[in-house]
Amino acid sequence: MCVWSAVVYIRKIDKKTIAMLSFYPGPSKVYPQLRDFMDQAMDSGILSVNHRSPEFVALMRQTVALMRQKLEVPAHYTVLLASSATECWELLSESFLDQHSLHVYNGAFGQKWYEGRLRLSPHASGLSYPPHRAISLHAMERAGAKQAAVICLTLCETSNATRIHPNTLGRIRRKFPQALLFADATSYMAGGRVDWLSLDACFASVQKCFGLPAGMALLVCSPRCVQQARLLSHDLHYNSLVNAAKQMENFQTTHTPNVLGVYLLNRVLDMRPTIGQTNRQLRLRAQRCWKRLLQAGFTPLVPYERLRSETVLALRDTPERVKRLKADAKAAGFLIGNGYGDWKDNTFRIANFPAITDAEMDALLDFLCRWRQQEVSS
Ligand SMILES: *Cc1c(COP(=O)(O)O)cnc(C)c1O
Repeated sequence: MCVWSAVVYIRKIDKKTIAMLSFYPGPSKVYPQLRDFMDQAMDSGILSVNHRSPEFVALMRQTVALMRQKLEVPAHYTVLLASSATECWELLSESFLDQHSLHVYNGAFGQKWYEGRLRLSPHASGLSYPPHRAISLHAMERAGAKQAAVICLTLCETSNATRIHPNTLGRIRRKFPQALLFADATSYMAGGRVDWLSLDACFASVQKCFGLPAGMALLVCSPRCVQQARLLSHDLHYNSLVNAAKQMENFQTTHTPNVLGVYLLNRVLDMRPTIGQTNRQLRLRAQRCWKRLLQAGFTPLVPYERLRSETVLALRDTPERVKRLKADAKAAGFLIGNGYGDWKDNTFRIANFPAITDAEMDALLDFLCRWRQQEVSS
């Protein structure tokens, strides 16, 4: 039985007790301010307006401006809405269907993107690399990166909590300047600083670092990406970059969008500090986590700090111990993330997302370190 609990964080909601503090790497903890924001959305009437109305256009325009201000999205980059990161994979695949794309991946999400792309067209190849290594530019060259029209990367591979180091991304951009560079940044955007100018398309769904409920994604495209999509004119599908970008010139969408999602995104971006500040806080916190976890005897999935994500942490242990730890954590009120894909049973994951407070993270660390101590002494 476990005696350390997250009981201080137990909140009473409508007489029901929500006891679980979520460190799941998505969907994860949402900002507690959402309760008020949702009330205000109701009162404002925005949820009933037409998406071609001046009211919606003003909301969308302001939200894009906040993306530029808080997340440093360049003024000449286009911000588009989608419903999920998975939809962004599909949208980009359909919009560049006959262009050869090289998918470089080291885990389950990158691989799924590649496999989805292959189902749509044969003009794709994959290069997988081990999670404990950095991407090799030589391997990319051998895999045909110099001839590829599109290169697809995963900035933070949520399944194994690795990242592509910003310096590596810059080197890829410089070595393969002809290719459009697409990046899945689902568990990174709004937590880490995106090197937008090195990328031609970068997307994330909002249930990870944005601290919002699932059901929306953001896709940010460079002018070169939009222009090339126009030249290819794949505009027959629902998921057409050409059509989406055309509508967004007037801050509109091809379909009726998730207006509540846009409203909440707007309010959360407005309330948050700039991404540089958020990223600094998360980086320091990740360092603090690792220091304590390593001291307590935990083992990171990836030994090299340089390759570890700052927004998701993955730890390795025996399947029996992982199982026991997750159960004990749950009993104490902490929901920690299962392993994923190849690492389902012998790892667990901890979200280090901005909506999680320092006090909450400290409570989890206290629990984990004591749990480990008891394991060792028993
Ligand atoms: C969570 C996640 C996805 C899937 O996101 P959806 O919004 O469910 O489509 C894709 N890629 C990465 C890296 C993720 O972490």
